[in-house]
Amino acid sequence: EESISVSNLSQLMGVKASDLIRKLMQAGKMATINQLIDADTAAFLASEFGYTVEKKGFEVEEYIPEVEEDEAKLVTRPPVVTVMGHVDHGKTSLLDAIRQADVAAGEAGGITQHIGAYSVQTSKGPITFLDTPGHEAFTAMRQRGAQVTDLVVLVVAADDGVMPQTIESIKQAKAAKVTILVAINKIDKPGATPERVMQQLNEYELVPEQWGGTTIMLPVSARTKQGIPELLEYIALQAEVLELKANPEKLAKGVVIEAKLEKGRGPVATVLVQEGTLRTGDALVTGAEYGRVRAMMNERGEQVKAVSPGYPVEVLGLSGVPTAGDEFDVVEDEKAAKEVAEHRAEKARQKELGSVKKATLEDLFAKA
Ligand code: GDP
Ligand code: MG
Repeated sequence: EESISVSNLSQLMGVKASDLIRKLMQAGKMATINQLIDADTAAFLASEFGYTVEKKGFEVEEYIPEVEEDEAKLVTRPPVVTVMGHVDHGKTSLLDAIRQADVAAGEAGGITQHIGAYSVQTSKGPITFLDTPGHEAFTAMRQRGAQVTDLVVLVVAADDGVMPQTIESIKQAKAAKVTILVAINKIDKPGATPERVMQQLNEYELVPEQWGGTTIMLPVSARTKQGIPELLEYIALQAEVLELKANPEKLAKGVVIEAKLEKGRGPVATVLVQEGTLRTGDALVTGAEYGRVRAMMNERGEQVKAVSPGYPVEVLGLSGVPTAGDEFDVVEDEKAAKEVAEHRAEKARQKELGSVKKATLEDLFAKA
């Protein structure tokens, strides 16, 4: 247990020992000048006299340890898919069409909530779609170094062809080493020329299978739903090739997909679980926010108690609105979550203050 004498602390802080003793008395603690006080009491005094307090030797890794993966515990997880492409080529329409193609929609009432990501049940298994403005979310997460997507569905309108954001999407998907599936959309339109799109994509090293290449290119229509079941089937097949696996038997870890403050519900975050199983009651920390998972809702608005890797869910119970693209971690208990969050908040504050000189509790003990 760390401790420091009142006189040492007074010297280090440049505050009279009698002032410290008076402050302690006001707080109901009797102390003499040579008395040793503990870290919490020293922290109290430091903050009372305007010092920043930092816990000595705080290691986030102690709370969020890197554990070696146990191969035996890995199980198949659903693929996570992002839809990208040029504006107006039909990304939103395609995501809507896929939502409606959910085979589980009938009995359960379908996907009713917009939670920034959804899971669809296909005849070939579940698929998770990120339903955020594809481009921006993908870029933001990539900038944070988060790898969330396994597959990119590149939407190209058959009547418009390859456009600037099509090229940008290809570049991003390639940089992230993510497999691209091409959905040539709007083939219901009279002026649609899917072959021209396939030709144009050759320039970007995307050669369709039917021409001896490796890229799956499917003609679809978000409007008439033509090709949608085939698209889902091909996504599931590609996912099989990737052999996506995760260990559900550990503390959950993942990424914040979307977050907002909602009236009556507080901070609401849509997260993608990437490892472990997320459960209600779990203590979670993401960036400088933390909390106990009070409730979880799926894309059907149903309450869920446990979420496996590869699935998205809406989480209630956080202290504040987290940042999309930030990682989240489940830790031992809420106290640990709070400590990690506060440590990060303090780090961020210090970074903001830059070179402003200030004594920290760490310095105090180091010099003592
Ligand atoms: P986004 O900007 O990529 O999200 O594109 P949207 O989904 O908003 O679609 C842009 C426009 O194209 C809308 O008016 C859609 O109704 C229309 N659209 C999307 N998919 C199709 C399709 O398959 N066929 C036709 N005819 N129109 C489509
Ligand atoms: Mg859109």
